[in-house]
Amino acid sequence: MASRFHDFGNGTYALTGGANIGFIVHKGRAIMVDTGLDSDTAKKALRALEGAGATLAAIAITHGHADHFGGAGWLAEKTAVAVYAPPLEAPFIMHPLLEPLLLYSGAAPIAELQGKFTLAKQSVSHVTPLPEGAQEIGGVPASVVPLPGHAPAQAGIAFGDTLFCGDAVFPEATLARHPILFCADLDAWLGTLAQLPALPYRRVVPGHGEPVEEVAPLAEANAARLQEIRALTWEALQEPKTDHDILRAVAEHYEVTFEAPTFFLLALTTIRAALTSLQRAGEAGIRMGDNRMVWRRM
Ligand SMILES: [Zn+2]
Repeated sequence: MASRFHDFGNGTYALTGGANIGFIVHKGRAIMVDTGLDSDTAKKALRALEGAGATLAAIAITHGHADHFGGAGWLAEKTAVAVYAPPLEAPFIMHPLLEPLLLYSGAAPIAELQGKFTLAKQSVSHVTPLPEGAQEIGGVPASVVPLPGHAPAQAGIAFGDTLFCGDAVFPEATLARHPILFCADLDAWLGTLAQLPALPYRRVVPGHGEPVEEVAPLAEANAARLQEIRALTWEALQEPKTDHDILRAVAEHYEVTFEAPTFFLLALTTIRAALTSLQRAGEAGIRMGDNRMVWRRM
């Protein structure tokens, strides 16, 4: 994918294309926010940073998905800088097997989950947990903003008027291509999306797609999609169903055909997040019977 370097003019930069990479530069020292998928994206990011006349001081990862941290192992080895991530996301970077393991219900993952989009090829031996709030990361000032939902403990990294928000919002193109967007905690994500436009940042750089000056419309579109998935999940429960059959009904609504187990399993996580949300609200519950775990309306 063609990449593009953005200079936002206040010590913040981004390399967009694929999974976006952000930079916060202060007195010639830089935090890299996410690293892209692999050593190729990490090399590109390092070159872009050198072009901007800065030295890498720290790597901050927004969340433990391989397309965002896959390049961190190579960078940490090459530059010896420290890698930081929110506490619950850090283990995924130290142990990349956790991502396919979780997607496969904790069992040894199938071959289809071992591609580089779900299993990063290189791990980082130590990741420092990143607390929320204003702080210095590798001597560079930044703010860590909790943005949970898409991943359990995702955080954005901000400086000045720029927020690198990870996958807190997806661009319209992604919403169209993957209608059942990956979600770990639907209620937490809705909370994040409600709060996002009110944060004091003029520019938001999502993990995919273009930087946005006005995040409200995108936050609303993402929230509307999550609400729709939740409503469709409820709709599917006119008859009691297993989570697999609910996914089938929701996929049919969006005219989605899963061509590979990975896409099926990613979407299944989202349906399970919707079911947990319905259970929390007392709208749906589980009934065991016939050795099946069946969801029904309450
Ligand atoms: Zn992600």
